[in-house]
Amino acid sequence: MTTVGILGGGQLARMLALSGAPLGLRFLVMDNTADACAGQFVPMVVGDYRDETALAEFASRIDVATFDFENVPADSAEWLAQRVPVFPNPRALAVAQDRLAEKTLFRELGIGVPAFAAIDTRADLDAALAVIGAPSILKTRRLGYDGKGQFRIRTLADADAAWVALSGNTHGLILEAFVPFERELSVVAARGRDGEFRAWPLTENWHEHGILSASLAPAHVAPALAAHALDYARRVGEALDYVGVFALELFLRDGELLANEMAPRVHNSGHWTIEGSETSQFQNHLRAVLGLPLGDTRMLGHACMLNWIGDLPDANVVLNEPGGHWHDYGKAPRDGRKVGHATVRADSAEQLASALQRVGIALGREAQVAPAIQALR
Ligand code: AMP
Repeated sequence: MTTVGILGGGQLARMLALSGAPLGLRFLVMDNTADACAGQFVPMVVGDYRDETALAEFASRIDVATFDFENVPADSAEWLAQRVPVFPNPRALAVAQDRLAEKTLFRELGIGVPAFAAIDTRADLDAALAVIGAPSILKTRRLGYDGKGQFRIRTLADADAAWVALSGNTHGLILEAFVPFERELSVVAARGRDGEFRAWPLTENWHEHGILSASLAPAHVAPALAAHALDYARRVGEALDYVGVFALELFLRDGELLANEMAPRVHNSGHWTIEGSETSQFQNHLRAVLGLPLGDTRMLGHACMLNWIGDLPDANVVLNEPGGHWHDYGKAPRDGRKVGHATVRADSAEQLASALQRVGIALGREAQVAPAIQALR
């Protein structure tokens, strides 16, 4: 009996455990909050990731460790890796935790990136703004997610306010050129212990207030562009000797792909793979981590995922759709919190657009479904 340990006990851990059950796996999650939603049906160690006593208990009860949360301290990941196999490896995690390190790696690999510069002092900011200009975005190098830890510099006069807002951050900052992108895309890919690489079809994403709102797959782009994006992901996976699933977020601007960031874990823009592809991202992550053969990533029709942020709408509207699937993460409602998602799948783009239209109208969420419908038509 193999027990997979997951650092972080949120919805990603929950969906990993659900998809691992048919493989006969057991799970143990570690989280610093006792009400982490995976803990509703997965045994849990509650403790701070820096607490060696809690980590030691976690390590003693598992055969292999992985993450649902990328901001686990690098030292804790290293400590764990000396005791049990950890995938992805701590170096890959460390690179993905640091916006400067990941953008530097992308550039070294020949992957397009927005202009960027490391910022440690106010003088650095002025020097970088003189080159990159405005509009641009000042971001914390670490611990930013869902648009948090960012300040938009619309004109050079915003530099003071940006500095005041973020300079208290002890891990340093990065200034990036603002990309007036036409579309946001992501590659979700899996890499096995033997280096086998598989990616799901390219996904198009839309955000609301910096949080993912909807994902549509396959993205309606030229095959050459999709192949290009998948090749970028392959390069990143190889460079980091990555094992498991990761996501590469890209901007499309004037036919050119620019990498924004990578997530060293299963990703929200890959939730549609549960019902929309032969093998889900969760199943393939576990297969990769355990050294099992990776599953086929081909799509079953067209799929759109709608994120539920803050609270859940009426499930019956989605459950009434022939291709409708509901995911309630078992979390208390709270502003800005991801509490669930729905995936709507259909055989054709036109059928999916019609289903989304019905769902959007019935739930009063026309604005959330509109961009996907437009992309489908
Ligand atoms: P991030 O936390 O880096 O994923 O950023 C969250 C969202 O902010 C992205 O999905 C984009 O919509 C937007 N964003 C981040 N960086 C840039 C950029 N350099 N140019 C334009 N938009 C950006």
